[in-house]
Amino acid sequence: METVTDIDVAVVGGGIAGLTTAYRLSRRGHRVEVFEAADEPGGRMRSSRVDGWTMDTGAETISPYGYPATWELIKELGLEQAGALHRIRHPVGLWRGGRTHPWVGHPRSLLAGAGMTARGRVQLLRMMLASATRSGRVDPDRPEDSGFGTRTLAQYGAEHGRELLDNLLAPVSSAAFGWLPERSSAAPMLAIMQGTHGIYRWQTYRDGQDTMARILAQHVKVHLSRTVTAVERDGRGARLAFADGTGLTARAAVVTLPSPEIPALRPDLEEGEREFLEASTFTTMIRVCVRLDRPLEPRRTAGQPRLYAFVMGPGEDSLLSGGTVEHNKCPARVPYGKGLVTLLISPRRAAEVYDLPDGQVIDRVLDEGERFIDGLRAAYAGHEVVRWRNGLPEAPPAALALRKAFVGRAPGPVEYAGDWIYLRPSSEAAIASSRRAASRVAAWLAR
Ligand SMILES: Cc1cc2nc3c(=O)[nH]c(=O)nc-3n(C[C@H](O)[C@H](O)[C@H](O)COP(=O)(O)OP(=O)(O)OC[C@H]3O[C@@H](n4cnc5c(N)ncnc54)[C@H](O)[C@@H]3O)c2cc1C
Repeated sequence: METVTDIDVAVVGGGIAGLTTAYRLSRRGHRVEVFEAADEPGGRMRSSRVDGWTMDTGAETISPYGYPATWELIKELGLEQAGALHRIRHPVGLWRGGRTHPWVGHPRSLLAGAGMTARGRVQLLRMMLASATRSGRVDPDRPEDSGFGTRTLAQYGAEHGRELLDNLLAPVSSAAFGWLPERSSAAPMLAIMQGTHGIYRWQTYRDGQDTMARILAQHVKVHLSRTVTAVERDGRGARLAFADGTGLTARAAVVTLPSPEIPALRPDLEEGEREFLEASTFTTMIRVCVRLDRPLEPRRTAGQPRLYAFVMGPGEDSLLSGGTVEHNKCPARVPYGKGLVTLLISPRRAAEVYDLPDGQVIDRVLDEGERFIDGLRAAYAGHEVVRWRNGLPEAPPAALALRKAFVGRAPGPVEYAGDWIYLRPSSEAAIASSRRAASRVAAWLAR
């Protein structure tokens, strides 16, 4: 018997994965609606705006390499022609021994050092050469199949070079992903580094990292402030329940929340799904945006280039894992003559800071930030503390081991999208997962 349904596809969550899934399915002719709990779309790709300052609350950069699904969408939406992208001109530095060392993660670090000794640079060169070989390459779509197995970053460092781990992989993954080397698998990070050629020619959206989400939301039907409380299989379709007590049926649903938030919404999870979702943990991210009355940046020596970001070197034991110098990243984000820095709480300190009132967080961050940025407190003009309980996929070995079974399931009426599907902490993974989800839903609807 045919089930009568309200719409073809209900997408739960209006982050970049949900919006892209809805966009792709709408273009295939399906009736799709997005249900988003927040009062604006974008999820972890939102930006906030205060008195001429534009602050990214989550994602902040994309790469021209290793982001194929993102660039396909950028071109389709005409964002490049519209001048929406800005190429970042400055390098990233490693804070070590009282100053920054530029060119972290950039091919130039082989010569410049970026805080590494000659031995560390040899380890880096070996890593770069290995990535060109079959056994050293990681397929970003199948990180579980690489020759690195489920080795953690710490284990990778023990085998391939301690300096490489301490001065590059650990500081970058800590600041960018909130990772701890002993908890996260090496393969997804190596996939990102290989795909992007490291920190090389990265870009940002001139008007905020929410640009793509804002444009996509104009192309699809999005219901804001609409919290979904349950998604269940309903015969050959799906049934949604909302926080206001209403419900809806659809021929299929796509759930795009961070994996740790999904089991509470899905009482009828199947065994293969539950195991992977529970293993697929996230890191907590806290970013503190500090508006400044002048453009300051971390201490550097004369002749050294200005930096757009810095990461914390080994043994610095700081409250912070690094930060972004937003006025160097993209001057259009800041009023003329002013400054903006974003400081990231170290993953080893995030639990201690998470529940503190904003006033205490900013106080501690300004004190600590003075160690790196002279005059920070005096230039303070305002702040925003952004907390993400589920900030980024953590890629633990247990999840990597379970991934193949999860992605190999037959399509059903309830599908998933989100960065965690690839265990890769990047918006590219979220967008790529949407293409995958849209194909699976289309296959299910066409059966
Ligand atoms: C601090 C930080 C820095 C980052 N930096 C970068 C970077 O520089 N480059 C990069 O490529 N990536 C970066 N990322 C990663 C990137 O932001 C994410 O990969 C991407 O935004 C994830 O999108 P998503 O749609 O999968 O999930 P989300 O954006 O989390 O979307 C899920 C959506 O579901 C909604 N929701 C939750 N519960 C419900 C409910 N019950 N009912 C309805 N809706 C609900 C949420 O409000 C949210 O909008 C960063 C992330 C963080 C947190």
